[in-house]
Amino acid sequence: NLSQEHLSVCTTCPYCGVGCGVKATPQGPQAATVTGDAAHPSNFGKLCVKGSALGETLGLDGRLLHPQVREDGQLRQASWDEALDRAATQWRAIVDEHGPDAVALYVSGQLLTEDYYVANKLMKGYVGSANIDTNSRLCMSSAVAGHKRAFGEDLVPVNYEDLDIADMVVLVGSNTAWCHPILFQRILRAKEARPHLKIVVIDPRRTATCEVADLHLPVKPGTDVWLFNGLLSYLSRSSAVDAAFIANHTRGLTDALEVAEITPEEVAQTCRLKLDDVLDFYEAFAATAKVITGFSMGVNQSSAGTDKVNAIINCHLVAGRIGKPGMGPFSITGQPNAMGGREVGGLANMLAAHLDLDQPTHRAAVQGFWGSPRIADKPGLKAVDLFQAIETGRVKAVWVIATNPVVSLPEADQVRRALAKAELVIASDVVAGTDTNAFAHVLLPALAWGEKDGTVTNSERRISRQRAFLPAPGEARADWQILSDFAQRLGYDGFGWSHQGEIFAEHARLSAWRNVPGDLPRAFEIGALAALDRAGYDALEPVQWPIGRRVFADHQFSFPDGRARFVPTAPRLPVHMAGGDYPLVLNTGRVRDQWHTMTRTGRAPTLAGHTPESFVDLHPQDALLCGVKEGELARIASQWGSVVARVRHGGGIARGSVFIPIHWNGQTASDARVGAVVNPVVDPVSGEPEFKHTPVSVDRF
Ligand code: SF4
Repeated sequence: NLSQEHLSVCTTCPYCGVGCGVKATPQGPQAATVTGDAAHPSNFGKLCVKGSALGETLGLDGRLLHPQVREDGQLRQASWDEALDRAATQWRAIVDEHGPDAVALYVSGQLLTEDYYVANKLMKGYVGSANIDTNSRLCMSSAVAGHKRAFGEDLVPVNYEDLDIADMVVLVGSNTAWCHPILFQRILRAKEARPHLKIVVIDPRRTATCEVADLHLPVKPGTDVWLFNGLLSYLSRSSAVDAAFIANHTRGLTDALEVAEITPEEVAQTCRLKLDDVLDFYEAFAATAKVITGFSMGVNQSSAGTDKVNAIINCHLVAGRIGKPGMGPFSITGQPNAMGGREVGGLANMLAAHLDLDQPTHRAAVQGFWGSPRIADKPGLKAVDLFQAIETGRVKAVWVIATNPVVSLPEADQVRRALAKAELVIASDVVAGTDTNAFAHVLLPALAWGEKDGTVTNSERRISRQRAFLPAPGEARADWQILSDFAQRLGYDGFGWSHQGEIFAEHARLSAWRNVPGDLPRAFEIGALAALDRAGYDALEPVQWPIGRRVFADHQFSFPDGRARFVPTAPRLPVHMAGGDYPLVLNTGRVRDQWHTMTRTGRAPTLAGHTPESFVDLHPQDALLCGVKEGELARIASQWGSVVARVRHGGGIARGSVFIPIHWNGQTASDARVGAVVNPVVDPVSGEPEFKHTPVSVDRF
């Protein structure tokens, strides 16, 4: 009704990188109804089942409402002053004795851009270490590394509206139907409107996304680079080659072709595909100008993830299919603000505003802008390395913010051991009882979705506001406020903001700082938004960067010579292959209705119905060989750990593979963390873990 409409607040869904706009209407102090925001240009009012159930996730059950400190082994309530004083005193003592690299932040793609900006500024500009990494390392760091190698900057050159006009959409390692449902529905509508749109899905599993595919290529796990090298080789001999684009705007094709040389027959054999299907894919790709290659975790979460990304980008470059409507390589981001985190440099190997940690001029520019006492001068530890360094004692203090690494990291039992050994574990969170918070010495209550206020950036580089529509419960505070209070306790200036809009303005100013031809030019530039006053920030409509132009429309890339790079991608197999005691390959991923480690979606009854418990998908013939039947409990074990799950024969699983979802945690009757099983192998360039390929055994439990 009219009065409720008056109370509605336009905000953004906190789950996936699609970044759908929602309207929330408060129904009392801790409840709200949530509907799609018809005016938001990324979803036009549509919401998937997770977004629609957001209202069910509100309420104070299990919330962390007061600071706590550990005393005699037990957590007890404390004042903010006591908790922050204790954290800052111990942190400072560790830095004084062991240096700035003995402390670290481990943050999250759930953070708002303003929170991320403050965390990054604190570590890199004031503590003086780049030991700040994020759970976004686990989902899209291979895409970041691939973009930087090809374009000179981390840029996604596709907009959602391009999906409406593409003639071919290739989805690689992406169960878009379940993981990015609103984008998937957009592809379906495009197919309905223009039935000639060809949809190709490349995925070892026959997922829900395959139901609409014109062609499904059930590629052998880990062989994507062979498939795309074969495509590059094929395109280079076809009429699809854009010789003028290659000559004027790229470098390195000859070297890339040298390692990509492979026939379609060899591709079919290596990738365990039908030759006719490989040729169908190659011919269609060559014949279709408007082609978008969307890729997600199946590409990124690999020990060759960065090469997979570049193998895909190479195919777009050779045909000049980039920077124009309806085409391009398209990294579909996992988390709601993985992109915003990248903008502020919230990764251990990045600076801020798309500047580079390993460039002295970039470091000097950021330090000059911040006026900070120091600037980190080398990359910090990436997620997996960070927790290994904590276990060995090299890093002695860690502050975990808005994430749950004891569940989500590979070899998750190692993370437990690491946190148990750390001298200081600070955790900021929304919920109290997580597997990670059990190790906290200082536990700090943060504002949740609906209470916090700031910005996020989605997969098409669109900045949207997340707005508060509920009061702050208990003593919970915004993450940026907690970090700023902490920084001030350490004696740092530069953290005196009184409102998140001031942080956004500083971030926007930094994006434009010396961002001119001949100096530090970047496509990421939102300087025009720096002038927003409080009212302007509050009223900010969704805005896409670069503002008012298409990425690469001028075919100018971010290297000094303006040219894109073909990257040679010599194919290599996953680090650990199945065989011997571990004959099957574990693949992990999401289910349709849950999100991350279920700390939020686990509260919604509507969402629990789809998949009430964890499971292992197993091919019936493999189940027979393992001596397990559908519906029975099985133990799935690797060299690194084990988990128990109920056997299913669904999920479109191929022989030789098993699939277990990532969501279930250690708070259930039996510890259901699949992370305990996953091998701690990472891509050598991006540091992204190989979540999709761990050799395992399956036995009756
Ligand atoms: Fe939220 Fe993603 Fe669903 Fe949109 S598609 S409603 S952003 S979970």
